[in-house]
Amino acid sequence: MRAQVVKKSKTQWANQCVICLSKQVDGAHIYPAGSFPKLADVKYNIIPLCREHHQEFDQLNWHRKINWLQELTCKPAEMRQWLLALHMIKVNEYKGDKE
Ligand SMILES: [Zn+2]
Repeated sequence: MRAQVVKKSKTQWANQCVICLSKQVDGAHIYPAGSFPKLADVKYNIIPLCREHHQEFDQLNWHRKINWLQELTCKPAEMRQWLLALHMIKVNEYKGDKE
C-alpha cells in the first residue's frame, strides 16, 4: 500500500525532487507518519525529495516543514508552486477530517 502511494505521488511530480529537480528521489512525508498515522498513505502527504533534501527536511519539526513548503511555493517555479499549494490544501483537508 505505502509503496504504491509513494509511486503515485512520484509520478504526479515527474519523479523529481521538489527542490532541486534531481531524479534520485524518495517519498517524504509532510506530516510524519509516526505522529499522523492516518496521513501516512495519503498521496498529498508525500512529496518526492532527493536524499540530501529529505535529510534536511526531516531535521525540521512538522510546523517548520509546513512553513518551509509555504516559502517554497513562493519561489517562481510554476508547476512546483501549483502542485505544492495543492498538496498543502489537500493534506490539510485530510488532516482536518481525520482529527
Ligand atoms: Zn533535492
